[in-house]
Order: sequence, then structure tokens, then C-alpha cells
Amino acid sequence: ESQQSNMNIVIVGHVDHGKSTIIGRLLADTGSLPEGKLEQVKETCRKNAKPFEYAFLLDALKDEQSQGITIDSARVFFKTQERKYIIIDAPGHIEFLKNMVTGAARAEVALLVIDAKEGVKENSKRHGYLLSMLGIKQVVVLINKMDLVDYSKERYEEILAEYKAFLSEIDVEAESFIPISGFKGENVASGSDKMPWYSGMTVLEKLDGLKNIEDIKNQAFRMPVQGIYKFTAGGDDRRIVAGTIDTGKVKVGHEMVFYPSGKKSKVKSIERFNAPKTDEDVSGSATGFTLEDQIYITRGELACIIGERQPEVSTQIKTKLFWLGKEDLNNTRDYYLKMGTQKVKAALEEVITVLDASTLTKTERQYVQRHEVAEVIFKLEKAIAFDKAENSTETSRFVLVDNYEISGGGIIVDNLENEELWL
Ligand code: GDP
Repeated sequence: ESQQSNMNIVIVGHVDHGKSTIIGRLLADTGSLPEGKLEQVKETCRKNAKPFEYAFLLDALKDEQSQGITIDSARVFFKTQERKYIIIDAPGHIEFLKNMVTGAARAEVALLVIDAKEGVKENSKRHGYLLSMLGIKQVVVLINKMDLVDYSKERYEEILAEYKAFLSEIDVEAESFIPISGFKGENVASGSDKMPWYSGMTVLEKLDGLKNIEDIKNQAFRMPVQGIYKFTAGGDDRRIVAGTIDTGKVKVGHEMVFYPSGKKSKVKSIERFNAPKTDEDVSGSATGFTLEDQIYITRGELACIIGERQPEVSTQIKTKLFWLGKEDLNNTRDYYLKMGTQKVKAALEEVITVLDASTLTKTERQYVQRHEVAEVIFKLEKAIAFDKAENSTETSRFVLVDNYEISGGGIIVDNLENEELWL
């Protein structure tokens, strides 16, 4: 495992504050664009008598995803000498939640962008709140468009003070604040002589100096079962249990237990797709394994290892969620709760508190409106397996589906059934 580690980044911020521009800059200034792409986009702008924008680079890449190297469906890649970065493109709240909960790539670092001229917006605060709720601890705040405020130290410090005060109210400490111009490239990949009053790091220096979250593979093993695939080997009918490992590692010989069913068997072999044979696999990998016994398990169960910390199994959960639905969250109808590969019907049982995520004011009522954060209790149609947020940020996250649309998401903070698992 001496290979260079990847790092997943998410870029959030109010619309038009400069997210795409910063992504375009990072790609261009690290030489991570496909050959000739920058020139081609500039030429198209010239032809259409339109000023060039770094944000167009992202659009151009999306238009030709066949180029695969720099972008796939929702991810953009760039490289420094230190490591390869994967930007999880999350243009809105919903995409962000979806990526954090159901995406294979989960953010280790968040860049939160604030427009120096417009200042802190409600969304700047909501995003900050969401990051802390989902357990993303490394947050770098980029105060962008410094060129529009004459690179003013006073303006920078004003925004810094306002946003820092908000973060401290929600118990978050940013890694750092950086004054930048995505448009002009100041303090992104290289320093700035326009802001001699700033002696901190550039965006790239800061990123390269951050640490990968190491402890994920040392946590208890968790793999949501994606499917069971049958195959025949040497006249034997065998089944592969497939999925992506959220946390921990698995080895041949481990005693495995599946929740919520509680069925058990020993790991016989590890079967990775298109990869060299191994007898151990770790978090982040899409993998599969065969078992010693022919037990019947299905998609949606959570594979765990006996002897390690066990998950919770429950039909009644206390959650903290961010609601984005067009309609209020209330107890007049059912929702679907999705986490890992599990999907279960959920009914709102009680709203404990409602909070406006930007003003942080509390309200007491039994429904939740769009853009509010709430602590609520759900009753589930059948038991699911999960971890409490205090035990794992990875396997405590869920999304809620209302009328076929992801309408909210959050973390499970408690199991209200309190039935001890028997292991
Ligand atoms: P997004 O919605 O957050 O992705 O924002 P974009 O990257 O699309 O930027 C919105 C607008 O702000 C575009 O017209 C950009 O050219 C402009 N913009 C972004 N960064 C800067 C900057 O540092 N300085 C200036 N002057 N304009 C910027």
C-alpha cells in the first residue's frame, strides 16, 4: 500500500460564487486537461465573440465524457506531485447528499467557496452545516473573486470573521481560509503578488498538506451487499457475494455475519473483478467473496465480521436530517429511507426539534420545511442495519425518497429499540 493515495474533494458554495471556475483553474494549472483542450475552448470562445471562462472547461469535458481520463459521470480528476485528486461534482444540495450517501466516492475534504463581493449567503451557511452534519471535518474556505474587491485585506477579514463566527456556533473549525481569484488564478496553483498581506498557503499547497483519512480501513468491516452472483467452477455451483466495502477490511477465513438476517458463514475466497488474486481486501474496493456455507442472503444486507464492533439493527431510529423536499416532511404519508443498498419504507413518528440551518433558530412543530434541519424519529417497515453517527460517519448516512425523488438526507444518531445484538 505504498502507492500514492487518492483524495476525494467536494466543492460547495452558493451558485455563481465560482465553483466551476475554480475546478477549471485547478485542472488547467496542474496540467490535468486533455491535450489541446484549453486552446480548443478558448478558440470556440473567440469564434463566438464570447469572453473565455474557466468554467467552460468543465462544460466542455462533460460534453465529451468519452475522454474518460479527466472526467466520468460525476467526478473530475487532477494530479499534483503529491497525489491524485478526485473532485466530486456537486452542483446542488441534492447531488451533494446523493454523492455523500450513495456515491462510491465520499469526500474527505470540502472546499467551501464564498464570493468576496457578495459575501456570506444563506447557502454558504447551509453548506457549512451540512458538511459538519455529515462528518466532513477538513473544510477549507475559499474567499473567491478577490479581484472584484481590489484584493482588499479588510474585505477578506470581514468575511472571514463573519463566517468563522457562524462555524464556531456549529462547532466547526475550518482548516484555513484562503483569499483567491479563481478567474485570475491568484493563490490557486501559485501565489499572488496582488495580496502581499496574505502569507498563508495556496489552494494546492493546502490540499497537498492535508492527510488522508487513514482510520477508515481500520474501522469495523462493513459492506452493503449489492448482489449475489452464481457461477460454476470445476463442476461446483458457487455464489459470490458482491459489494463495495465502506469501512474496514476482510480476509479469507473471517467469520462473517449478515444483518439484519443474522446469518453467518466463513469467508472462503475473495474474488475481485479484473484484479490480481488476493486473500484480503479493504475499504473503497468493489469486491466479492465466496462463503463456506450455502446460506441464503439477499441484496440490502450489511456484511460484518464477528469479533469486531457490531452494527445496530432497528425499526425505530432517531435521526438528524436536512430536508429538501418540495413538500413538507410530515406524518401523513410514507417515505423511503435508503442507506447502502438497503431501502425501506419509513414513517415520521415524531419531530423533536426543527432548526433553520442558516440562522440557527429553533422552532417546535410536527413538520419540517425545505432547507430546514431537524431531529426526528422514524418508524421503519422492517429492520435495517446501520451504525450510529458517533461510531461511524460512513455507515450512519441515509437519504430519504419522497415520491421517487431524493428529498432529504442525514445521519442516524440513535437506535431507539435498544435490543442488544447477540454477538
Ligand atoms: P458556480 O456557479 O459556483 O460554478 O460559479 P462559476 O464558476 O460558473 O462562476 C460564476 C461567474 O463568476 C462566472 O461568470 C465566472 O467567470 C465568475 N467568476 C468566478 N470566479 C471569479 C473570480 O475569481 N473573479 C471574477 N472577477 N469572476 C469570477
